Amino acid sequence: MRLLVLMVIAACGPPPRATALPELVPEERPPTWLDRTVSLRTMLGRAGIALDTGGARRTLASKECETGPARRCVRCTLLDERDGLPDTAMEELVAAFARYPITLLDAAKIERVALCRKLDTNDGEDEPAGLADTESRVLFVNVRSLLVPDRAGHSIDYIAETAHHEVFHLLDFPAGPRRIDLEWDQINPNGFVYGGRKGDGRPFGFVNAYATTNGGEDRASTFQFLMARGQELCDLAMVDPTLLAKARVVWRRIASVADLAFLRAGVSCAGDLD
Ligand SMILES: [Zn+2]
Repeated sequence: MRLLVLMVIAACGPPPRATALPELVPEERPPTWLDRTVSLRTMLGRAGIALDTGGARRTLASKECETGPARRCVRCTLLDERDGLPDTAMEELVAAFARYPITLLDAAKIERVALCRKLDTNDGEDEPAGLADTESRVLFVNVRSLLVPDRAGHSIDYIAETAHHEVFHLLDFPAGPRRIDLEWDQINPNGFVYGGRKGDGRPFGFVNAYATTNGGEDRASTFQFLMARGQELCDLAMVDPTLLAKARVVWRRIASVADLAFLRAGVSCAGDLD
């Protein structure tokens, strides 16, 4: 009995010194290349779009590369982890696609997005920042200028602008790039002929010199500004009625496939475009 009492008293003594509990919160670690590609793949997967990066499949070429020189052959050398794309560039791309409602991505009928560290074409022109293959429904993004920091190239936010530009090409060409677009052409001044202008200055009626290349580039560039440079576009459109008319047409065409809420936030002159 005495033994039992002693044992009870002992059990009521000071608690044993607390031992450290195992850490339940995992240690923060920066996202890896795999994490970032999974983010982009997931974002695109919302609309059933595949993502092509390097690995087993090193290049992606358009069908025209096999069938002969009649059409433009596009050959993308796929980007992989070893290329060292800045992390923020991948984040920009994820954020760019996150802005789109699924209805718009569905309407663009994009099958895949290919990230290229090099993008070659057989048309003798400079290596493009992006391309839209309207036959195979592939959107190519060329990040080469971001892999060579010393080279004068595009800034990281240009990767998002490129994506927006190419998304519009895939929305815009249901009947091929030579589609006649009378409504659009009539907005241009009498006698104007597309064909590109030299120099960097902005010609009246266009967001930039590149937009004077052809109607498709004009529309895609206007949309690119609506998505990425809304305030700049509004400022220009207020003093350029031709550009305002073009922005209205693009605005209305986008409204026919998706709710415009995703565009309105960055476009202060949205009320003038409705
Ligand atoms: Zn273009």
